[in-house]
Amino acid sequence: MNTPIAIIGTGLAGLSAAQALHAAGQTVQLFDKSRGSGGRLASKRSDAGSLDLGAQYFTARDRRFVEVVQQWQARGWVAEWDPQLYHYNENGLSPSPDEQVRWVGQPRMSAITRALLGALPVHFSCRITEVFRGEQHWTLLDAEGQSHGPFSSVIVATPAPQASGLLSAAPKLASAAASVIMEPVWAVALGFETALATDLEGCFVRGGPLDWVARNRSKPGRDSHLDTWVLHASNSWSRQHLDLDKEAVIERLHGAFAEMIGCPLPPPSFSLAHRWLYARPASAHEWGALADADLGLYACGDWCLSGRVEGAWLSGLEAARRLLEHRQ
Ligand SMILES: Cc1cc2nc3c(=O)[nH]c(=O)nc-3n(C[C@H](O)[C@H](O)[C@H](O)COP(=O)(O)OP(=O)(O)OC[C@H]3O[C@@H](n4cnc5c(N)ncnc54)[C@H](O)[C@@H]3O)c2cc1C
Repeated sequence: MNTPIAIIGTGLAGLSAAQALHAAGQTVQLFDKSRGSGGRLASKRSDAGSLDLGAQYFTARDRRFVEVVQQWQARGWVAEWDPQLYHYNENGLSPSPDEQVRWVGQPRMSAITRALLGALPVHFSCRITEVFRGEQHWTLLDAEGQSHGPFSSVIVATPAPQASGLLSAAPKLASAAASVIMEPVWAVALGFETALATDLEGCFVRGGPLDWVARNRSKPGRDSHLDTWVLHASNSWSRQHLDLDKEAVIERLHGAFAEMIGCPLPPPSFSLAHRWLYARPASAHEWGALADADLGLYACGDWCLSGRVEGAWLSGLEAARRLLEHRQ
């Protein structure tokens, strides 16, 4: 067996790299600090059913990603979501239909990464704190003080602020990652016993605390006894209220939702708040992936490209391509 390649992060970027390497006959071993895969493309299981608190949907523009999404659709991992779309601004609510094809994981966002992970070897609840190279091979150290290895190469597939410390063996890569600013987002989910009297299923909001509102239950396969909604605060509001307690965040975003939705809003019977500290990169990059091929250290993630689901997948693919190219 060849010496495995370590991949830190089981979001879409890490799994895209894992799939490409596995398909090329390489052995991979994955690590994630969370209890499951998905990262920002995960879903939260709750009393109100599964909720997409991070990525809401994704689009596919690059030919390679379009093809792979078609395969995912054929396997039943994703489905099209065609919401009744609105815009909200100082003039109020207005319908805003468009031609954009929007994809979601089915029956929940995390279905995609669960399927991609398949039977690949993975350590969950394992936060990697150090990545270091000996004479020939790499070793990882986790937060419990356990070491993992040896590995022939390491791919760091975490958000940039978490990647920079893990890339210290390659200072150029570490400083590129450290230069990336990632914006926070507060997400709130609300569940109502009685369906709200509106046909709105998705809304881009301009001005005020909110940025986006979605009727979670309108997505294909979502099963809930409640009318569930996900509200995202804008980056600037989230930044300004980073340390507000969750109850206060729920109250403020619920208030903003009541103002915009244009129908009576009963008290929710379910609510939760989640803070994404590193939700989206503040700007896009064209790195594809970062690599020190001689060392065998790579970094990928949405922040190397577009800051979107598609960018994460393409970046993972690029990291794998560069690693395989170096082995030839
Ligand atoms: C609120 C929000 C809304 C969004 N909306 C959209 C949208 O509508 N459309 C769209 O295309 N994109 C959207 N995105 C962006 C999209 O979710 C991301 O671009 C994509 O999921 C990033 O994937 P990734 O693999 O690069 O990173 P991540 O999904 O963040 O995966 C990184 C993984 O690394 C793990 N990790 C981190 N540090 C360590 C460590 N030290 N040790 C071990 N594991 C570690 C994490 O647990 C995580 O699982 C949104 C994101 C958020 C947060």
